[in-house]
Amino acid sequence: MSKTLPVLRNYINGAFQDSSTLHDVSNPATGDVLARSPQSDQADVDAAIAAARGAQKAWSRLPAIQRAGYLRGVAAKLREHAARIARTITQEQGKILGLAEVEVNFTADYLDYMAEWARRIEGEVITSDRANEMILLLRKPMGVVAGILPWNFPFFLIARKMAPALLTGNTIVIKPSEETPINCHAFTELLDQVGLPKGVFNVVYGQGATGGALSAHAGVDMISFTGSVATGERIAAAAAPHITKLNLELGGKAPAIVLADADLDLAVKAIRDSRIINTGQVCNCAERVYVERGVAEAFTARIAQAMAATRYGDPLAQADVEMGPLVNRKGLDGVAAKVRQAVADGAQVVTGGGVADLGQGFHFQPTVLANCRADMEIMRKEIFGPVLPIQIVDDLDEAIALANDCEYGLTSSIYTRDLSKAMHAIREIDFGETYVNRENFEAMQGFHAGVRKSGVGGADGKHGLYEYTHSHVVYVQS
Ligand code: NAD
Repeated sequence: MSKTLPVLRNYINGAFQDSSTLHDVSNPATGDVLARSPQSDQADVDAAIAAARGAQKAWSRLPAIQRAGYLRGVAAKLREHAARIARTITQEQGKILGLAEVEVNFTADYLDYMAEWARRIEGEVITSDRANEMILLLRKPMGVVAGILPWNFPFFLIARKMAPALLTGNTIVIKPSEETPINCHAFTELLDQVGLPKGVFNVVYGQGATGGALSAHAGVDMISFTGSVATGERIAAAAAPHITKLNLELGGKAPAIVLADADLDLAVKAIRDSRIINTGQVCNCAERVYVERGVAEAFTARIAQAMAATRYGDPLAQADVEMGPLVNRKGLDGVAAKVRQAVADGAQVVTGGGVADLGQGFHFQPTVLANCRADMEIMRKEIFGPVLPIQIVDDLDEAIALANDCEYGLTSSIYTRDLSKAMHAIREIDFGETYVNRENFEAMQGFHAGVRKSGVGGADGKHGLYEYTHSHVVYVQS
């Protein structure tokens, strides 16, 4: 092992701390090892939670506007170093540089946006049935939050957990994905320069076991997790003995409904872009299409052409690529197996269909599958790769019924020029979000949340902010 590799360190109580057990972090486009990252154990987790607990009361007593000042300070630092950090994200995660830059700047904007809420954390005064009584509903911080992150938007998701948590007076322990710890280290180094009080923000690196230790810990008041349904289930089970508050943003299987009267140029471009962005590894990307029979042939041919034209490769070696590799070998093998199964089940490969041999890296060809049916796994389970399965439907109601018949319920979209059809779909479709005549992304002032197995609670906006608080109702008799 090269001695020149950077070694990442946990960040506990305002200090970077060495770890004895490390694992390699590598570039999915080249296989090069980039750094060594801690595999934190129970003692590290205990120390981080103790630091967060120790800092929490004093932090919550600061006026919110002062807490917001730190968020703004971090945002300014991120903007200063955006180009360097974007490269780091691309290197360890594989998304194209342009998207990594958007991610860093959006993260800074998100911190600033959440800071704006400092003067708007509002309780309520409630009318009492008794004479001379006032009822007050206060909003108080949960306490210590554990933020457990996936690898697909590794930088933004730090802020999505930390900003609302800290602004409302909580302290936090972050555990980034083992696939993408380097960008979290870069974030933490910049945060360290802002002078946040010790213990308010802590990081423990590691794999699932580290996340498990955080989830089962009696010292955690709330778990804010983004990741797969399977891990969400394990976290909920680990948290059950302490009845720890959960905020779970889990997987998606977003249906895109394309009606015969849709603007096909718009639908093809939006769905194709959504399917290749971040190499299809986004929870709210179009993951299955229901197209009305009359336009099915034209839509399928055009989207296949658009997908086939996608330039892909190593994002740092070729500046013009639109799509990078999948995050790791497991991801690549998983996507390949799902496509093979779909073909065995009767799907027709219109374009792509297999692993792309570029000599190195985890690349999969942009793929369109036709003749898909509701009983196929490819129409029911998350793919997380640049693969678009298409099913033909006879009308909007059939599309809505198929869309709803799914264990996921995060995002959905509909393409139509008919307002009444769009309104009908909005009333009938059971999802946390719907995009009309567009695809992702969601807005920071919205509320990103799923139903069914897509999650519990949500993020962003006022509702996302208040997730990190509990109510305290006070009866004042005079
Ligand atoms: P994952 O569930 O494999 O891992 C997520 C995190 O959980 C990692 O940090 C991992 O180390 C940790 N972990 C693993 N086992 C654990 C355990 N037993 N206890 C506690 N923590 C554990 O997910 P991933 O592969 O990193 O990310 C992809 C998934 O995330 C997809 O399903 C995607 O849809 C979902 N996702 C959802 C959203 C959303 O907003 N709903 C956003 C991004 C990603």
